[in-house]
Amino acid sequence: MAYSDDKINMVHGAGGEVMQDMISDIVLGNISKTSVNGGIGLEALDDSATIPIDDEHVIVTTIDSHTIQPLFFPGGDIGRISAAGTLNDISVMGVKPVSLSNAMVISEGFERSDLDTIMKSMNKACEEVGAAIITGDTKVIDSDKLDSMIITTAGIGIGRKDEIVPDSGLEVGDKIIISGSVGDHGMAIMSKREGFGYETELKSDVAPIWSVVEAAKDNGTITAMKDPTRGGIANALNEMANKASVGMLLDEERIPVKPEVEAVSDMLGIDPFEVANEGKVVMGVKADTAEDVLQAIQKTKYGKDAQIIGEVVEGSQVIMETVIGGERLIEPPIADPVPRVC
Ligand code: MG
Repeated sequence: MAYSDDKINMVHGAGGEVMQDMISDIVLGNISKTSVNGGIGLEALDDSATIPIDDEHVIVTTIDSHTIQPLFFPGGDIGRISAAGTLNDISVMGVKPVSLSNAMVISEGFERSDLDTIMKSMNKACEEVGAAIITGDTKVIDSDKLDSMIITTAGIGIGRKDEIVPDSGLEVGDKIIISGSVGDHGMAIMSKREGFGYETELKSDVAPIWSVVEAAKDNGTITAMKDPTRGGIANALNEMANKASVGMLLDEERIPVKPEVEAVSDMLGIDPFEVANEGKVVMGVKADTAEDVLQAIQKTKYGKDAQIIGEVVEGSQVIMETVIGGERLIEPPIADPVPRVC
């Protein structure tokens, strides 16, 4: 596939390597100050940034825009994903999200009742983690300029410096845990768009996962953490391995994929490892605490299907031992194969 160097195209927003390259060149390349007080800044490209405010405490902050189509999909809507997406980027830093800021750009002619439903969903997701919505902005623009709505949310968490978990901290010997089944969100969006809705029970996993992270933190030592959103676990695991200069050895048999996700994946020829999850976390955990962490996660509402899916090894590649006894290289996708997925 050829991508023009002069124009931004859909792939530049699809969470894969092409997007990463553009961010490095044009975004990072034009910003001179990218961190505050020695905290985690923009150049780390982590899920959130941190601002140390005294010797002990940090503010954790992040922002995310949501352009998902359709706005209402099996398992959720743009309101739930706008809250969960940002709350989760704070949560995977190891800190409880305390607030959300909400900016909405709405197309002229948008149904008031739909906006009401979307706000209720956003509120419910925040209630689940005890986060407040403290500020926001609303704009309306011509319907020929925007098809429905765009929601941008910024999140804040406050924690101790020593509880921050970056996505770069993996060490050889750590176990890799995923909090549940893979590919549910991306495949639910695709099956809704393709009109498979009547044939499958498939639902998006969109959910705020703070309770999963909290259970893991309280029961072991987490070395690195990410939410595997755009680009799926293929992207998240490669990013984590890359940043820590390590490899991974995964066991296909242990990676949970729902049969209905498998079915849609086969029909569309899309790899469930490469599509977005919106209610999952992947983490590296010290091996001697992995079983305790796994059991604690499995007791939470959104972590029942959690599994230890492999371990961190020397090297630089993410390799999966397949069910039939072979090996498959898991590479970071060029882009998430599902456009406007979150
Ligand atoms: Mg993230």
